[in-house]
Amino acid sequence: MKSHKLLMIPGPIEFDPAVLAAMSVPTSAHADPTFIQTFGEALEKLRIVFQSPSGQPFVVAASGTFAMDVAVANLVEPGDRVLLLNIGYFSQRFGEILECYGAKVTQIQAEIGSRPDPQQVEDELKKGGYKALFFSHVDTSTGVLNDVPTLARLARQYGALCVVDGVCSIAAEELRMDEWGVDVAVTASQKAIGVPPGLALWMVSPQALEVRRKRKTGVPNYYGDWLRWLPVMQAHEARRFDYFATPAINLIGALNVSLSQIVAEGMENRYARHRKLSRAFKAAMQALELDQIPRSEEIAAHTLTAVRYPKGIQATEFLPRVAQEGVVISGGLLPAIKHEYFRVGHMGVIGLSDLIGTISAIEHSLYSLGYRFALGSGVAAAQRAYRDGELL
Ligand SMILES: *Cc1c(COP(=O)(O)O)cnc(C)c1O
Repeated sequence: MKSHKLLMIPGPIEFDPAVLAAMSVPTSAHADPTFIQTFGEALEKLRIVFQSPSGQPFVVAASGTFAMDVAVANLVEPGDRVLLLNIGYFSQRFGEILECYGAKVTQIQAEIGSRPDPQQVEDELKKGGYKALFFSHVDTSTGVLNDVPTLARLARQYGALCVVDGVCSIAAEELRMDEWGVDVAVTASQKAIGVPPGLALWMVSPQALEVRRKRKTGVPNYYGDWLRWLPVMQAHEARRFDYFATPAINLIGALNVSLSQIVAEGMENRYARHRKLSRAFKAAMQALELDQIPRSEEIAAHTLTAVRYPKGIQATEFLPRVAQEGVVISGGLLPAIKHEYFRVGHMGVIGLSDLIGTISAIEHSLYSLGYRFALGSGVAAAQRAYRDGELL
């Protein structure tokens, strides 16, 4: 059996060999013209991936949480009123960060597996005085997908900035930053971007950058002040050297390789491929008569699937059993239902065979733990849905 287990969690994901190879080259100086070129190219490609020709991309050594942290640190001044849509664990985290920087937070809390109704959001924004609207595109704890274009339009209509946690969506779920009017979108390398953990990536609209510039108070975060990084990002895009703090040189090399693959696939093809993989996986879970956390297909993410255990199946037995079959999947994350469900990530360079292998490992594990169904029915349903996806 292969020593490498297939990594089917919602990040980190499976990485392409060419991406991993780019990490193992001798590290150059950060002032080396070849590296400046690589960094500059990566920044340009980020504009394509975020669909934001007008935005300012940032790449900084950190994880996704840092990109969320500094979005708040740069935009929010103590006492600012913000609206937060809470659909799960990572929305909750955005809330904690907002409190940390002194925001006055109003939350719209969705029931588990659902998302706030746009009317509810509009009613709240209508009251006025909100500086920004914060929400997750996909909350990785529930697998719920927010309706970004509608929410961004509402934010704009009522004069609030629109800040999106896209850590589990960007480069897989459809996101058109400029067209939809999203002001800040953040992600991290290890999710659909397809690069090992270590890079925080985010895009800032000209309006949001202006809000940062016009702050009355300083940004209470040294490493995360956008304006310290801005000259570095601008310099590299213009193929010039500039320094604030040493960039993650090898990771940026890997990032440029992965972004090249993403751009070569094309964003529309990429969204469609993720939808197709997702439909196939979800069809398999349905065939096994397993419920999902999102209350309807329409609000379910395409980057992962969150599935309830059938009666009698325990996480502590099930997850190691699946791993024995060579596939790593995740347990639950949302504290209230943590032990009631598992999560499977299906983003990045994986294909049909990885998906089928995962479903097969899940079927086999459920069966051997006593859950009864027609063996192979999940795999067959996935095959059919994938085939139907081809004909769409
Ligand atoms: C993974 C994830 C994060 C946190 O990213 P880290 O890189 O672990 O800091 C934040 N938001 C969402 C939606 C995520 O999926």
